[in-house]
Amino acid sequence: MKEIDKTDLTGDEKKDTASEDQEKENYEKVCFLCHRTESQAGKIISLPGGISVCSDCMQKSFDAMDNPEIRNMLNLQNFTGMKNFPDMGMFNMDILKEQMSSPKGVKKPKKEKKPEAVFDIRSLPAPHRIKAALDDYVIGQEYAKKVISVAVYNHYKRVRTGTNSYDEIEIEKSNMLMIGPTGSGKTYLVKTLSRLLDVPLALADATALTEAGYIGDDVESVLSKLLAAADNDVEKAQTGIVFIDEIDKLAKKPNTNQRDVSGESVQQGLLKLLEGSEVEVPVGATSKNAMVPMTTVNTKNILFICAGAFPGLEDIIKRRLTKSSTMGFESRLKDYYDDDPDILTKASTQDLREYGMIPEFIGRLPMVFALRKLDRDMLVRILKEPKNAILKQYQKLLELDEVRLDFNEGALEAIADEALSRDTGARALRSVIEEFMLDIMYEIPKDDNIGKVLITREYIEHKGGPVVTMRGTADMLLTGESEE
Ligand code: ADP
Repeated sequence: MKEIDKTDLTGDEKKDTASEDQEKENYEKVCFLCHRTESQAGKIISLPGGISVCSDCMQKSFDAMDNPEIRNMLNLQNFTGMKNFPDMGMFNMDILKEQMSSPKGVKKPKKEKKPEAVFDIRSLPAPHRIKAALDDYVIGQEYAKKVISVAVYNHYKRVRTGTNSYDEIEIEKSNMLMIGPTGSGKTYLVKTLSRLLDVPLALADATALTEAGYIGDDVESVLSKLLAAADNDVEKAQTGIVFIDEIDKLAKKPNTNQRDVSGESVQQGLLKLLEGSEVEVPVGATSKNAMVPMTTVNTKNILFICAGAFPGLEDIIKRRLTKSSTMGFESRLKDYYDDDPDILTKASTQDLREYGMIPEFIGRLPMVFALRKLDRDMLVRILKEPKNAILKQYQKLLELDEVRLDFNEGALEAIADEALSRDTGARALRSVIEEFMLDIMYEIPKDDNIGKVLITREYIEHKGGPVVTMRGTADMLLTGESEE
């Protein structure tokens, strides 16, 4: 086909040949609707299907969509002049218009009001006061609460001095390693602490981390989480707490020749964060890529708390303890430590190394302490004593219906026993309670006359029902006290 030189054409010829010619690179685009060229009409937008429209026509089409009559007219199957126009449905006009015209943009969700912090890290109270505040929420675990209170106190004192050197004595970071069975309150302790201190907290899971370049999150992702928890305020994030759970899963796998990208390498990767360094962190995402903005976070004043259940560590500790005491006056029988509930508190760095943690890693976690496995008494206390105890929560819910909910001691013990049998620590308490409270929460609001419900051991053990008391008279049968 003979090439046509655009400059030789008259205006009409130009219109006729426009749609054919636009495919050829050396010709100008032409508006499909008004047939003006790019030099006449200004910027021309290419649409899918090889169609080009000038901005004026595009705007007019949008405006026309506002008019219901024209909308009807533009019922495209009847509107032959537009039959080649791409399906209008591809533009969601309403959304587009809303976005273009709304001065406010998308409405942000309301921010949750944060509970008041009890302490201020700039004038931190003495460790015993921190522990006393923790006591209101965390039951038992006295030693762990003591260690963490002292460590946090020292950490923020060090942060407050501004520099790391104090009278030329460098105060080291007090990163921590918590060892404790699942559901013993490791996460809960740290969460409570960060809330009391009002410092941002990032909860990370070591199992999700991998060496940079492999599928999974890079170690820097824990700092992205912290940044998000601090509302992207770098300064606030730099004095926050990072909690890394399941740290035991990073133990070196014995006897493997393969590269351990999710274990030992992650321990290596975490070293520089634990120690204190400037780290490039993606903002608003957990992985680095060209589209994500980056910022620099200094981890010098970030408190790292690692935690894990370390299954099997007991055996390593027992082996060491019995080996070192097989001779002399102190000698012990092999099974001496078998029933020791506090065996984990005797863990040493040597045991952790044997477990598979690399020495450099343990070296950067100077505070190592253990939480006890929760026994029945502790579980009963957890049910009723903390400020936001589960029982108190249910009592409050029923109180809103003006019904008083009580549990007798037998019921509490039965709940604790059932939770113990599930072997997930205090975590099982809620699920046990939820199972039997379902019927109560369903049935009670049906009858306005119910004034009181007593949960008994028989009910928990499915041997009877709860004792339900109507308002007024029968109340006295249960407790001897009358309701006003
Ligand atoms: P883990 O040790 O596995 O991190 P969590 O801290 O997640 O266990 O505990 C699970 C839940 O059990 C917590 O949310 C908390 O309600 C409860 N809990 C556990 N330990 C205690 C405790 N010592 N005092 C009060 N509540 C506890």
